[in-house]
Amino acid sequence: MKQQLLGLICFLTSFSLFAQIFEVEPIKVSGANENRINLVVLSEGYQASEFDDFIDDVTVFSNAMFNQSPFKEYANYFNVYAIKVPSNESGADHPATAIDVDESGSTPEFVDTYFNATFDAFGYHRYLYYGIDYVDAASAEVKIRSVLADNFPTYDQALILVNTPYYGGTGGEFPIAAASADANELALHELGHSMFYLKDEYLLPAEYYSEGINMTQESNSNWVKWKNWMGINGIGIHAYGASGVPSTWYKPRNGQCKMEVLYKPFCSVCTEGIVEKIHDLISPIEMYAPVSNTVEGSSFPLDFQLNLIKTIPNTLEIEWTLNATNFANNLDDVSIEETDLVEGENTLAAVVHDASSFLKIDNHESLHINTVTWTINYSTLGVQGITSTENRLSISMYPNPTNSIINFKFENSNRQTLKIDIIGVDGKRLKSISVSNQSHKQFNLENLKTGIYVARFYSDNVLLATKKIVKN
Ligand SMILES: [Zn+2]
Repeated sequence: MKQQLLGLICFLTSFSLFAQIFEVEPIKVSGANENRINLVVLSEGYQASEFDDFIDDVTVFSNAMFNQSPFKEYANYFNVYAIKVPSNESGADHPATAIDVDESGSTPEFVDTYFNATFDAFGYHRYLYYGIDYVDAASAEVKIRSVLADNFPTYDQALILVNTPYYGGTGGEFPIAAASADANELALHELGHSMFYLKDEYLLPAEYYSEGINMTQESNSNWVKWKNWMGINGIGIHAYGASGVPSTWYKPRNGQCKMEVLYKPFCSVCTEGIVEKIHDLISPIEMYAPVSNTVEGSSFPLDFQLNLIKTIPNTLEIEWTLNATNFANNLDDVSIEETDLVEGENTLAAVVHDASSFLKIDNHESLHINTVTWTINYSTLGVQGITSTENRLSISMYPNPTNSIINFKFENSNRQTLKIDIIGVDGKRLKSISVSNQSHKQFNLENLKTGIYVARFYSDNVLLATKKIVKN
């Protein structure tokens, strides 16, 4: 009875009783957490007296990460924080149960650490995980989630850094890496899996193959998902192995990508995948002004401003249009004079997109576009009001080249409809198609002559992008 009552009390008060608050130290802060990708590093196997070492290890990792492409170029999109989770003892378990090496001479070692990290997971000596063959992994994951919920609930990705001089790590939802000499490279490889959905590019057991950004069974260079990269930066179609299942799976590079070999850069296909994911997570438009319902009176010029999260060097392009006519390019702010406006509603739009050379996506994957639209209500009495809306849009067009069907997919945050004009070489509009939000439409080019056409994408009368279509 007493126990039951205690259990009930514990249940009711468990949050406050067991919330474990640890010190969170900023390592790299580029801007407000809500506008950044927040990478949170948890310590494992560090005693409280070793937290200075932990902070040094996270700093070394962070510097190594943002010294490499594409993180170097997109450094302003990330924040890095360290959570000081104390362990009672230092290091990680080594049960000496691996079957891939002879461990008969090793003495098993067990240490009392917060997440119970261990080598020899899944029978592999260098697999460092928080459970042996998933035993205890579920309870370790509960602990990881509760540390994150109590200390940094808005994290985008967590990484566990283990205080051990021995090389090891694993991917998964919570990648884990030894803070040894190769830790930075290994942690980046594991983040490649966990955060950016990249596959390994080394020879794998048969059951580990599946379609992914950098893994496919398509061996035709016209159809392979990285066809836009073929012959560029060493990208080709390379079988994983010489025989059996691995010989039916292909990767973009051989021996030259961090997803295969540490200390190599990410290949162009993996780099593009990482940049695409960054675009999925974060809008380059951090702030804009003025915001909705601002009445500016009649004081001209009217100033409009974007605060962008710039890439290094900056590859963001901005096109400003006023009433569907180009007004300015690549300026962060513009000023409008009274003579620029017509009576009634005026539409000023800023279309922002990333022209990074890491992306070759005009023919496949998605085109990410971010817009701000201001509606300026003007009369002879002056400006009656300004309203603003922000929109994040993703447009896919595939396959390209095509001899018949081309697909369009569209998604946007304002549930607007996409209008696509197909234009011939003579500049004439051949067809106008509309695609509603979160939907998909096909267009048949079968009856058109072989050659180059242009697709112009509009949303709410704002020109978003112009892309070539090749009919063969
Ligand atoms: Zn790769």
